Amino acid sequence: MNRDVITDLKGSVKGKIRFKERLSGHTSFRICGPADIWVETRDIKDLAKILLFAKRHNTRVFVVGGGTNILAGDSGFKGMVIHLGSPIFKKVDIKGTLLKVGAGFNVSRLVRLCCEKGLEGLESLIGIPGSVGGAVFMNAGGSANPVFKNIGDHIVSLKVMDYSGKAKILKKKDLRFGYRRSNLSSYVILEATLRLKKQKSFVLNSRCANFLSMKRNKQSLDMPSAGCVFKNPKDSQFSCGQMIDMLGLKGTVSGGAQISEKHANFIVNRDRASSGDVLQLIGIIKKRVLQNYNIPLELEIKII
Ligand SMILES: Cc1cc2nc3c(=O)[nH]c(=O)nc-3n(C[C@H](O)[C@H](O)[C@H](O)COP(=O)(O)OP(=O)(O)OC[C@H]3O[C@@H](n4cnc5c(N)ncnc54)[C@H](O)[C@@H]3O)c2cc1C
Repeated sequence: MNRDVITDLKGSVKGKIRFKERLSGHTSFRICGPADIWVETRDIKDLAKILLFAKRHNTRVFVVGGGTNILAGDSGFKGMVIHLGSPIFKKVDIKGTLLKVGAGFNVSRLVRLCCEKGLEGLESLIGIPGSVGGAVFMNAGGSANPVFKNIGDHIVSLKVMDYSGKAKILKKKDLRFGYRRSNLSSYVILEATLRLKKQKSFVLNSRCANFLSMKRNKQSLDMPSAGCVFKNPKDSQFSCGQMIDMLGLKGTVSGGAQISEKHANFIVNRDRASSGDVLQLIGIIKKRVLQNYNIPLELEIKII
């Protein structure tokens, strides 16, 4: 990127801009090379300007929330990574059972707030790291089991911006949520409005405590990771973790990365792993599951 372009960017954007920013500091895996440009937008107008700038200069854009479901390559991201880090994107407003929340708000904090305010629906999201924007994009939730609801089940509308800088409201009828997916890839999510139900706080708190203890028992939380690497296959009697475990792959090491000994669908960064180490383990798992169960696994984490 030449000097004129950098001057143009700095002149038109109010938020923080950094060049060659290491993404390892912005992802839960603690892996990844640098992003050419890292931008923390100040507000919605600023975001529109940044998106227009990227369009004008044909620059690739990636929006990162908490970075808890991402693996970026060792050579980094060639383009611009945008983060909605400013307080403008972290507002919450509750009117009765209607909750409006900014995309930058932390998900677990939101669940705690709902418990305190007596609002039911988000308990299965307790302990999920990351932002509301990331959770909506991923349709994060308890599990593939429909009894445990995902965030998309509660959304009535979203405020979004398309990549040419135009903000709009998407209503429920415009939204498609599935198991860890949504139809939002053409938008930056700015704010979500959710309809929840009334419930007594002590009921919600005890439900959260149960979910948390389930997660602490099952998940590998003592080493950096990006949570479950693969989606559970639809028509299999086994979960991904069960298949990987039955294949004896738990504990397999590649460089500094390891298939977790505790939860086989987690890959952990045990000791300064590279992105290549993680990709190697992903390759091994995919190959062995295909050979033995004839199931092509789909990634849940996003590789950028
Ligand atoms: C220890 C651990 C446990 C986890 N447990 C669970 C679990 O139980 N259930 C579950 O569902 N997930 C789980 N996850 C995965 C992850 O936390 C969720 O997917 C989370 O919702 C991702 O949010 P994020 O803000 O970190 O998104 P990121 O990782 O930053 O981004 C994920 C995707 O969302 C997009 N995105 C982020 N913000 C925006 C935005 N504002 N607008 C448009 N697109 C956006 C990104 O471009 C990317 O494609 C776990 C992860 C870890 C590390």
